[in-house]
Amino acid sequence: MLDQHLRPSPVVPTIDLDAEGVQHGFLRLPYSRDDSAWGSVMVPIAVIRNGRGSTALLSGGNHGDEYEGPLALYELARTLKPEDIAGTVIILPALNYPAFRAGTRTSPIDKGNLNRLFPGRPDGTVTEKIADYVMRHLLPRADIVLDFHSGGRTLDFVPFCAAHILSDKEQEARAFAAVEAFSAPYSVKMLEIDAVGMLDTAAEDMGKTFVTTELGGGGTSRARTVRIARKGIANLLRHSGILDGEIEQTRTSWLDMPSDDCFSFAEDDGMIETMIDLGDPVEDGMVIARIHGTGRTGTAPQEIRARMDGILAARHFPGLVKAGDCAAVIAVKVD
Ligand code: ZN
Repeated sequence: MLDQHLRPSPVVPTIDLDAEGVQHGFLRLPYSRDDSAWGSVMVPIAVIRNGRGSTALLSGGNHGDEYEGPLALYELARTLKPEDIAGTVIILPALNYPAFRAGTRTSPIDKGNLNRLFPGRPDGTVTEKIADYVMRHLLPRADIVLDFHSGGRTLDFVPFCAAHILSDKEQEARAFAAVEAFSAPYSVKMLEIDAVGMLDTAAEDMGKTFVTTELGGGGTSRARTVRIARKGIANLLRHSGILDGEIEQTRTSWLDMPSDDCFSFAEDDGMIETMIDLGDPVEDGMVIARIHGTGRTGTAPQEIRARMDGILAARHFPGLVKAGDCAAVIAVKVD
């Protein structure tokens, strides 16, 4: 996969990625700026390795305002011991570190949305350089990749683990088996509406077993969703043969997001009133949200109606919406 025409990455890991034992360090990315002429962006990384075995690449903070992944992964990096595993666990709890530090989805340096910039560029923006390093130096090491997401400040989801519907059915089966092992309350077979530039697509194109999550949102975390993240990691490491022990299986409901009709967008600015809560059943034609104009009294709200039966899987989080914002997502229960 290595493109020999690309110049070397400017990123320097401060640890030996192949060393046995526990390494805590950084991916150091030179970033010259007003307040630090020869400064760097320091992306935290931990590698725990014990001999031969599979390699898991676990990342959070791909978007900087999603917290279940980072909470679970900083803890994992602190507590996982080499003697507990067979193989390698590479942990990046805050992958787009500038965005994570700012508590924003995209990087404050270049407005880069890391999950839209793969494969990245070694001579590009800071965010593109992070993507390029992951693409050429970390993904090729992995057998299984778990990239945590949540809704961030503007969306809230029912907690699910997901993998994509792929043309390679053997690879797809591997990914869905990993989702099943993660054992979130919901599991999703995703048909990506906008797959270009995603870490997901980069990993899948290399033939990796790739899974992702949406575990909540609103720019914070909940006790329940962080527990789901922690259990999911342990289950996935057991599933990969890296960690010993039984998978702690709980019942999961499989969901499908079969078409564009799942997604509803606000057509006016205003104040959103969701008419049902996350996880509640939805019927085709039902009003699932109303958007109230606030400029004057006496105007009727815009009604957003479901275009299929299912459950409410995601909703806009803040009380105010703008035209074009994703207002609601419906998913269909598979069984
Ligand atoms: Zn995200």
